[in-house]
This record gives sequence, C-alpha cells and structure tokens, in this order.
Amino acid sequence: METKERRTYQAVIGLEFHAHVATRTKMFCGCRVAYGDPPNTHTCPVCLGHPGALPVINERAVELGVMAGLAMGCEVAPRAVFARKNYFYPDLPKGYQISQYEEPICTGGYIDVPTSEGTVRVRIQRLHLEEDTAKNVHVGTSGRMHGSTGSLIDFNRSGTPLMEIVTEPDIPSPEAARETAVRLKEILQAVGASEADMEKGQLRCEANVSIRNPDGSFGTKTELKNINSFRFMERGLLRELRRQREVLEAGGQVQQRTMHYDPEGDEVYETRSKEFAEDYRYFPEPDLLPLEFTEAWINELRSRLPELPEAMRARFVEQYGLSEYDAGVLTSDRELASYYEKVAFEVDPKQAANWISGDLRALLNEAGTEISDTKVTPQRMIELIGLVENGTISRSAAKDVLARIFESGESPSAVVEREGLAQMGADELSGVVEEVISANPEEAQRVREGDKKVIGFLIGQVMKATRGNADGGQVREILMERLGS
Ligand SMILES: [Zn+2]
Repeated sequence: METKERRTYQAVIGLEFHAHVATRTKMFCGCRVAYGDPPNTHTCPVCLGHPGALPVINERAVELGVMAGLAMGCEVAPRAVFARKNYFYPDLPKGYQISQYEEPICTGGYIDVPTSEGTVRVRIQRLHLEEDTAKNVHVGTSGRMHGSTGSLIDFNRSGTPLMEIVTEPDIPSPEAARETAVRLKEILQAVGASEADMEKGQLRCEANVSIRNPDGSFGTKTELKNINSFRFMERGLLRELRRQREVLEAGGQVQQRTMHYDPEGDEVYETRSKEFAEDYRYFPEPDLLPLEFTEAWINELRSRLPELPEAMRARFVEQYGLSEYDAGVLTSDRELASYYEKVAFEVDPKQAANWISGDLRALLNEAGTEISDTKVTPQRMIELIGLVENGTISRSAAKDVLARIFESGESPSAVVEREGLAQMGADELSGVVEEVISANPEEAQRVREGDKKVIGFLIGQVMKATRGNADGGQVREILMERLGS
C-alpha cells in the first residue's frame, strides 16, 4: 500500500569508461604502447607535446573503436571529428587533449545486463576516441600526491589510444553497474578492441550517481572516481548511495560534487571539484582532417566481428544443454570457452562443463594460473573424462588424478596405472563382497531379512576395502544379488 510517508530510494547510475585500445602504437605517433617499461623510453615530439609536432591518426585504433561500437549495436557516424579539449595539468604538456566532442565515431547502442532482478538494457550514449595523458608519479609516499616530496612524469603512457564509452543513466543498482562493466569488458575482449584489464588500468571507470526525486525527476548527481575493480565499483556505489540517502533523510540536499571511494575504510570523501565540460572550450583539432567512413568500410568491419559473448552464451545453452550459469562461466573468458569446446566435442558436454567450470577452474584459481598456461591440455581432459565415462575410474579418483596432472602434466592413464586407481572388475569385486559378508554375518543376516537400511553399511565396508576403487552402484547390485533381497 502506498502512503505519503513512504519514500523509496531509486538509484540512478550512469557510467563512463576509458579503455586502452589494443594497438601496437600510440594514437597519433609511432611510439610503441608498452606497460611497465622504464619511464620515458617510448616518446617522441608528438607524444611529448612539442610545439609544431604534427599528429597522425592511428587507423587501427579507429578500426577497433568502430568494431567495439558495432559490437554494442551502435550507429557509426559517417563523419567524425577530433577536437581539442583544453585544460592545464602537468601530465598534459600541450595544454589540451585530442579527443572527440560534438562528432564522436559512434552513438546509440546498448548492453543487455543480467541482474538478480532481471535483465536491464543499458543504453550507450556515445563512444569516442582520444589520447591518454602522461602519468604523474608522486615520490616520497605510496604514490599519492598528498604528502609527497615531489612528482615525476612518465610519458610512456602519453598518447596511448583510449576509447571513451558513456552510458545513459539507465543503471538501477550497484550490482547492475558492476555487471555492466563486466559485460563491457567481455565485449571489448571478444572484439580484440581492448585487453580491458582493470587491475592494469586498461579499463577505468567513473560513475554518475543520484537518487531519483519522489516526483520521478532526476536528483542531483555526484561523480564517483577511483573505481579500479569490479568489486570496488559495487561497494563504492553502495557507499555513495548510502551517503546521499542519509543526506536526504536528514532533510538536506545532495550537492554536485566529485567523490572518491576509499576501499580500505569503506568511505567516500569529497575531492577538488572538477571543471565542468563547458570550461574545456573544445574546438576542432586543426591538424587533423575529419574521419569519413563509407558504408562499405563499416560493413567490412561488421563482417569481421567475432561471435559476441551474449550470442556465445545462448549457443552454449542451446547446443550443449548447459545451464545459464555454466554457460556464463565458460564464456566469460574466450580461452576458457575455446578450451571447453575442444573437450565438449569429444565427450559428454555436460560432464565437460562440470569438470572445466568446476574442478579445473578451482585449481586454476588456487594456483593463479590462466587456462592458456595449464598443463592439463584439452587432450588430457578428454582422456580423464573418458576414463570416468567408461568406468575405469570413479569420479572421486578422477579428482585426485586431475590434481596430479595439473601439477605434473602427465597423462591421466599413466597416473591411474601407477597409483593403482582403476576400479575393480566384476570378478575381483565379487570376491571382496564375499569377504565383507563373511566378516559381517549379523548385518548380512539383517539384510536377508529385509532390513534395507543396513545395506549402506555393507556398501561402505566394500568401498573401504577397495580403497574407493569401485562403483557404488555396482557394489549395491552385487550385494543385493548375494543376499537375495
Ligand atoms: Zn610518440
């Protein structure tokens, strides 16, 4: 029942992503894009911002930007213009960043995001290309400006191609925001447009956060910065929304601010308010011609798009009979998906999904190894699952074998042979059953008299005697036969 007092707090979240475009060279010069190299080893007059140095557009970056847009169903502009975004900061010696403003390469599009409350369609407002700034390195502290004794600038990052992707404020919860980021990352990786590793700073995110007014209009929004992992994104948004709610509940008003999230103290705090867009005084970059895209070129790029994560997920459900969850896990990583398909081609696809998304992935996580580096090749996995399917080993023995070959890279059959893990054949098993019956005459008698519960105890004794190398169902069958019940 609705009452006047009742206030629901509906979150309104929009995200802005910056993704490093996966090119070999920078956006407007031939310097190599490299992470972790010694400072200022990949620079030239263009990316150092020397006066008079002329930028040249990296065509590959444009191609990848357009492909990312196409993958999200965006419309590609027939013409796009680079613009100067003017502001001063030590990491930007030109005094402007080359970006796109009024005419970005892509607009529209969407990402469908599954959440616990159903699928949310998050519309994409725009996708444009720009260059990254240099990197300030603050010395004398843990890397923050506050309390540092000096700042150094590393220009290796200066001019690295970036894609900025802005969503509409369609996101209703922190959970949906995190899922949007996860889906975007999957799409960018699938297309090869960005490695999108948040930990490496290849995918950065800022959020606009507000609470909808009781009359349905938008409330005042704040900007949340410093989001550098999917987990912190959700936690930071929850924290900022709580702060806004508390302000509103106390009868106050949310102020337009830039907030930072500190994951350690789970706190949000205000930072220097940033200039607003109109202060940047954008104007068209005079040193670059507008980009012009033909229909044929766009179609050519569209035809080169790989199978996208969502389509692949749906196909895994359909083709292999997997649950949405398993399909989601297996397609969250291209390498994992391709590994799975190699195995599922040879053995029961559901078994393959259990082994790969469950047991193997647990081992990978524990060891901090990527699927591409595991010693358990698809061939080894096929062999292992085959040994279970044809009854040579039990599932529990197979788990042990997997853990061993994960370390050693041996063939599963070799391990089974050496360790004597093969299940007993029917004859040998019958012998063990006889021994167990002789050793437990009272229990055997009770089963003969129809007490079915005791049979579990006898099965347990047989399994113990065979050190688990027997099939429980088969043991039960033989026992029932011998005891005539
Ligand atoms: Zn350069």
